[in-house]
Amino acid sequence: MDDWQQMLKNSLTDPEVIAKRFNLNSKELEKIAKEFKIRVTPYYASLIKEKGDAIYKQVIPDPRELAENSGVSDPLSEDHDSPVPSIVHRYPDRVLFLVSHSCASYCRFCTRKRKVGDSTKINPRYIEDGLEYIRQHKEIRDVIISGGDPLMLSDNKLEYILKSLRAIPHLEILRIGSRVPCFLPQRITPKLTEMLKRYHPLWMNVHFNHPDELTAEAQKALALLADAGIPLGCQTVLLKGVNDDPAVMKRLMQKLVASRVRPYYIYQADYVTGTEYLRTRVEKGLEIMQNLRGWTSGLAVPYFCIDAPGGGGKIPILPEYMQQIDDEKVVMRNFEGQVFVYPQVQEGNGKRKPVGRVRRRQKQAPLEPAFADIIEVG
Ligand SMILES: *Cc1c(COP(=O)(O)O)cnc(C)c1O
Ligand code: SF4
Repeated sequence: MDDWQQMLKNSLTDPEVIAKRFNLNSKELEKIAKEFKIRVTPYYASLIKEKGDAIYKQVIPDPRELAENSGVSDPLSEDHDSPVPSIVHRYPDRVLFLVSHSCASYCRFCTRKRKVGDSTKINPRYIEDGLEYIRQHKEIRDVIISGGDPLMLSDNKLEYILKSLRAIPHLEILRIGSRVPCFLPQRITPKLTEMLKRYHPLWMNVHFNHPDELTAEAQKALALLADAGIPLGCQTVLLKGVNDDPAVMKRLMQKLVASRVRPYYIYQADYVTGTEYLRTRVEKGLEIMQNLRGWTSGLAVPYFCIDAPGGGGKIPILPEYMQQIDDEKVVMRNFEGQVFVYPQVQEGNGKRKPVGRVRRRQKQAPLEPAFADIIEVG
């Protein structure tokens, strides 16, 4: 057994042990565990500094998971876009391929908690059907290998999947979505990355939600992946009490870039049953984006998206930078709230504006009230 498998075996899973450690009600935890598995790797548990902190909130259950009756079990209507159990085919040229039901630790806010942790819903016997579906659909050029967490599979099983996919001529890129570099960085071994690099072009999206998760161990795992030529992105979920703070989020994005990870998406938390206590208002995400663009490296600025309930897909949400657009000009504000004018090209009659006006600065024009409080944050 590899070290990482041993570590996984020593994870916190027993409601009684967890209840004792954090002074919780074990009966309540047992009830929650029946709805959605509990697991925390010893490594990730060691990052908890105190009950209720940003690490704790992500993986230790809260009684509100059962008390709240808002949210839906399949908020993104994935099951509706699922031609075979292991595939979600929503976009024209790419699919999600669910290959593993388990995760190194279970995020209490998981969008797919109706399936994740349950081997009857995501099962190896569905993998062949998924491969066959991808073979038959020539429009697919990009496969996102997901679950659960694909890096919970053994190197051999994962290699079988990668090899089978690479044998399909119409596939251009493969992607792996994984939270293992955050929860169990010890699983990223040289043996694993040697194997992965045989299946390029292979991309990976990791999942970090707080700067404290980028420990020396996690950074080492990310470096191994990057050294294997795997371009790394990060998908972060905006969560109340975890990262709903512009300074925390900015630090996370900067530390990701320093670890050679390009922040890809910040997601508004999905409308999932039993996760209401972790959701924020959408304005919080806009405030965070406003505090990133211009204030730090453009490389550290991801897209902020809402994955639309009902299966609409990811929709980018931006602070309003453009204030007016007409035939003559575009009026826009910069990251500091100053207003600038860009003249439109005039077709036909040569009424072109002199270039000097392009960056004319109008001093501190009043902003729409909606932005006034956001801007102060910077
Ligand atoms: C997120 C997602 C994708 C990938 O979307 P990108 O914007 O290309 O990263 C593909 N299929 C489904 C169903 C998804 O939810
Ligand atoms: S790692 Fe991903 S799939 Fe697993 S519980 Fe967390 S959010 Fe869900």
